Amino acid sequence: MKEYPIPMVPGPVKLPAPVLAAANVNYGAADLETEFLDLYNETESALARIMKTKNRVVIASGEGMLVLWAGLKSCLRPGDRVIAISTGLFGEGIGRMAAGLGAEVRIIGLPYDQTLGDVTELEEAIKEFRPKMITMVHCETPSGTLNPLEEVGRLKREYEVPLFYVDAVSSIGGTDVSVDENSIDLALGGAQKCLSAPPSTAFISVSQGAWEIIDEIDYDGYDALKPFRTAQESFYFPYTPNWHGIAGLNAGAKLILEEGLEECFARHHTVADYCRTRLAEMDLGLFPAPDAVQSPTVTAVNLPTGWEWKDFDARLRAQGLVVGGSYGPMAGKVFRLGHMGSQARMEIAKAALDVIGNVLERKG
Ligand code: PLP
Repeated sequence: MKEYPIPMVPGPVKLPAPVLAAANVNYGAADLETEFLDLYNETESALARIMKTKNRVVIASGEGMLVLWAGLKSCLRPGDRVIAISTGLFGEGIGRMAAGLGAEVRIIGLPYDQTLGDVTELEEAIKEFRPKMITMVHCETPSGTLNPLEEVGRLKREYEVPLFYVDAVSSIGGTDVSVDENSIDLALGGAQKCLSAPPSTAFISVSQGAWEIIDEIDYDGYDALKPFRTAQESFYFPYTPNWHGIAGLNAGAKLILEEGLEECFARHHTVADYCRTRLAEMDLGLFPAPDAVQSPTVTAVNLPTGWEWKDFDARLRAQGLVVGGSYGPMAGKVFRLGHMGSQARMEIAKAALDVIGNVLERKG
């Protein structure tokens, strides 16, 4: 089915009407019309406000993985040292991506149901290994967890690590990221999660220190960040910009700012709490360990005993609810409720939990 009455997939989320309207226009050639440049600049400012940064924000054509690669390829050379904090699939994957580029990678790893707590091991590793870059995933979407930015940002400052790279694809717009306060040099975001926009653009905030490294590395592949340093001033983008996608992203960012940033974050918290309370009432266990921090944007739930994922999923869909499964070691064992962006709504959460209750009751 193309569309479900109760959408709860943790990205891509349902597009709200203003986003659909903005993306669905017969735009001209982005590289010829100054109206496009105005839109790009406006979208950059809106994203910077949402991320709480004075840094430039690059908006690229592609989805989240594009900026994950862009940040690594634009800043690393073979032999550069990277500490990759891994508390989930994406954290581990980023470490592998950096290693694939020839970086010397040290993993600070925890099981996928945990979040970074005590930072002693990380601090020791920074002192001894002296990395050029620390990577971390803020919200591990497949696990429904949220890692702490403040502590790692503090270590970055204290030990003068040149680059703090944060995958915040499924947290930006749903919870506070505070890029400048947390000393994040590269904060990576996707349009299709809390921004409620089509999966055709992704963005990355770049600190002054990161720009200097980007200049020095001088990477010039398709996903290179360097050309974006001057793209607006020279009105010369490295490829035809995605006007439709950026218009959708702009509309999604505007919705967040019109609602109010803190109000939007509070809405995500309220809906997440509601989902977790209802799940507990149904005796459904959450995937994150009891002392892990859960993300306000996604809830990962252990599949109830006696159920196969395929059957459970089919029965939810038959009642109009679509949720996410999970990946890697969680595949077939965990399902996820994506209460992010347009889907962080009490009426959607309530309908979703009613369907889950119904399905369990019928089998029971
Ligand atoms: N990082 C995280 C934490 C994600 O959840 C995702 C997608 O689910 C990505 C990166 C990759 O984004 P995309 O699928 O848009 O390429």
